Amino acid sequence: MVKNMDKIQLLQRIFGYSQFRPGQEMLIDGILAGKDAFGIMPTGGGKSMCYQIPALLLPGISLVVSPLISLMRDQVMALKAAGVPAAYINSSLSYAQIQAVYRNMLAGKYKIVYVAPERLDTDGFGTLAERLPISFVAVDEAHCISQWGQDFRPSYLRIVQFIAGLRRRPIVAAFTATATKQVQEDIKRILDLRNPVQTVTGFDRPNLCFSVLHPELKDRELKQLLSARNGKSGIIYCSTRKKVESVCQMLNELGYPATRYHAGLEEQERTSNQEDFLFDRKTIMVATNAFGMGIDKSNVSFVIHYNMPKSLEAYYQEAGRAGRDGSQADCILLFSGTDVSTAHFLIQNSGENEDLDPVQQEIIRKQDLARLDAMVGYCKTKTCLRGYILEYFGQKHPQMCGNCGNCNGNFQEVDITQQSQMILSCVKRIYDKLGHWVGIDLIAKILRGSRDKRVLDLHLDDLSTYGLLKNRTRSDLHAMIDHLEAEGYLQADREHQTMQLTALASEVLYRGKKVAMKIESETEDTSAISLAGQEAELFDVLKELRGKLAKEAGVPAYVVFSNATLTDMAKKCPRTRWEFKQVSGVGELKASWYSQAFLEQINRFLEGETE
Ligand code: ADP
Ligand code: MG
Ligand code: ZN
Repeated sequence: MVKNMDKIQLLQRIFGYSQFRPGQEMLIDGILAGKDAFGIMPTGGGKSMCYQIPALLLPGISLVVSPLISLMRDQVMALKAAGVPAAYINSSLSYAQIQAVYRNMLAGKYKIVYVAPERLDTDGFGTLAERLPISFVAVDEAHCISQWGQDFRPSYLRIVQFIAGLRRRPIVAAFTATATKQVQEDIKRILDLRNPVQTVTGFDRPNLCFSVLHPELKDRELKQLLSARNGKSGIIYCSTRKKVESVCQMLNELGYPATRYHAGLEEQERTSNQEDFLFDRKTIMVATNAFGMGIDKSNVSFVIHYNMPKSLEAYYQEAGRAGRDGSQADCILLFSGTDVSTAHFLIQNSGENEDLDPVQQEIIRKQDLARLDAMVGYCKTKTCLRGYILEYFGQKHPQMCGNCGNCNGNFQEVDITQQSQMILSCVKRIYDKLGHWVGIDLIAKILRGSRDKRVLDLHLDDLSTYGLLKNRTRSDLHAMIDHLEAEGYLQADREHQTMQLTALASEVLYRGKKVAMKIESETEDTSAISLAGQEAELFDVLKELRGKLAKEAGVPAYVVFSNATLTDMAKKCPRTRWEFKQVSGVGELKASWYSQAFLEQINRFLEGETE
């Protein structure tokens, strides 16, 4: 299917995107012209495309060196879903499976093969490589090759020997998201990149909203943050395994679908917890920094750091796992003074690296302490947080970004007394009419004036509170209702999944008690920002269908379509297959698989609306 396409056609027909992102085209052109390349682009910037498209267009086979097993598996899964012949080789495969991949490589069945660095100097692979037409080697997460990076992996040094051992030197390209000037120089030197084309794309991730909070009680803060983000996917990073355990347990007790990940768990549990998260069976992952290196989940809408990490590099990489699909997302750090002493302790007591001599180790320790200082500076600065980060990575930036906690004084307390009165009185009226309590979904629908069948069947559109909050989004309303629950005005009956009034509610209803809620001024739901009314409802419907299709296919939801794609679909509301293909993120293969189901769903939705 790849034959005779050019790079634009590949981008559009295989991957379903209408245009290249900044930096992508230049790198791809360079590589296709036979040049080495060096892509420094932020997480989520689309580095994979920069090696995947050349790999498809160059003759022979291309290797992608990548550090983590889960990343390889995800990317190969996504490539196959887009119709590209790809495979990976790492320690998760059996001997027989690896031999099968080798045979297929020799038979020319793959255009792209992902390889773990440890495999490169095994005998079998070396012999194989001699017989393969390798035209291109892409090194992903290339900062792992530098001792000065925060994530040095000695196995990366094998790449150098491997390339040197090939009969013909292939095109070599390196990609990274987090590299200071020094690390960048290291990458170029060690990998011997020859006059590489280099991106000028910066580190900025405009869709991420950064903020630092200094809460008195982290648990309470966390609960509030989560109740304003119900149903969304997010990662909570903690500095210790013990903290992961306690936070995860707390969330589970509160009824949140949270799971955990740290190096102290059995391999099997780690894998299954990770899959639960990837497949949205559990939407919240509580983890140490052992989690995430290979994680390519595109719909992570928040990353909360329960503890401060030990460097800005680490922070930016972990926080950067939010919003990869370009949607608005939040990166929130909960700071406390003890975090600083803990991080100090961890640096002083970090394990010895056997590949390094004592002098080098001492230098690294000093660097780690300097990195920690920069991290603490971030937590305490009153200036623009994005600016602080970009400054650190040596990039020019405006004084204020207007989209971070320090720029817009995020997390303002807003008065929601009036809305609370409407919600509580709506709950009361429903009960008076039906004689029983109902769930949060139905309450929200009534307030939003929905023409949902259940609302009409029960004649709930007669209520005086019907449609009172019709200008608010579904997630707005859910957040407010959750907040009223958290504050004790409503009580959830988890067994029947209903909400009932508490005695306290009358304080608000009849005695003028004020209700305040912390919200982020700029970063409400993505769907809330760009979608409203019918579009937001359609988005929810499409999301449900996506979940169903993903489940049937046994893949994570975002492999079917990303949130960004669904948002665009809800906006464009395609009625024909041609229109469907105009949606961002819809390629030909996916159109052929999914257009029917989605178009039918959209039709049903539109008919339901007009009835
Ligand atoms: P990273 O640079 O972190 O490796 P990825 O390669 O994983 O980023 O890409 C992040 C997301 O951006 C993926 O979902 C990918 O499909 C999407 N993407 C890549 N290129 C484009 C493009 N030109 N237009 C729209 N989305 C893109
Ligand atoms: Mg990547
Ligand atoms: Zn800012």
